[in-house]
This record gives sequence, C-alpha cells and structure tokens, in this order.
Amino acid sequence: MSFTKSNDEWKKELDTETYHVTREKGTEPAFTGKYWDTTEAGTYTCSNCGQELFLSDAKYDAGCGWPSFYEPVNNETIETIPDNTLGMKRTEVVCRRCGAHLGHVFPDGPKPTGQRFCINSASLKLKKKE
Ligand code: FE
Repeated sequence: MSFTKSNDEWKKELDTETYHVTREKGTEPAFTGKYWDTTEAGTYTCSNCGQELFLSDAKYDAGCGWPSFYEPVNNETIETIPDNTLGMKRTEVVCRRCGAHLGHVFPDGPKPTGQRFCINSASLKLKKKE
C-alpha cells in the first residue's frame, strides 16, 4: 500500500473537512472537532493512513478547543516543519508516513515534555482500547 498519493486520489478517499485540514493545511474551528474533549482510552491514529500518532495517556485538557498531547507515540511517527505563514513563527506537525497536516506544536505544554501538540480532530482517528 502506498502512502504517497496525488491530491485527486486523497480527495476521492477523504471527506471534505478531512481533506481540507490534512491536505490543504486547514484548521477546524476550536471546540467543534470530534475529539477536543474526548477522554476515552486508546490510540489516536492518522485519519489518512492509519499510522499510530498519539496515546490517550499523553492527552490533556489545554483549554484551547483542539485535542492536545504532550508527546507523540515516538519521534519517528511525526515530522516537524517550521511554519512562518500568517505572520507567526510556528512549528507545523505532519504525519511522517503520508504527509498529512496534523496541527502545530507549541512550547507551552505541561511536564514532562513542556510541549503542546495542538492537533486537529479531523487529522485523527481514535482506536479505542479493547
Ligand atoms: Fe498519515
């Protein structure tokens, strides 16, 4: 299975909102996504390719309206890219396997990492713990 697909191929596979967020670097409005206040145990996978990205154990309530995590499953699963659009210096987070835009990471998270991975619900799919 290939994870390198053309935009047309992704467009056929994904719903409009997911395509906009993950393939056009969109942002869902705060407090509207399906996971911003979810506390269920499980593993959050990439909504595009299924790669495991974040564990519910690392999810916390940042009060910002998007699912927030203090660390990824491991450092191989994501890639960070400097993002200087919209007049801000931010760090974009993408799925390393398929390139899906996930969100941004900020240095104002809780211990132990001090990082806040602020991720769109549309970029995630929760695999609930059995
Ligand atoms: Fe992916």
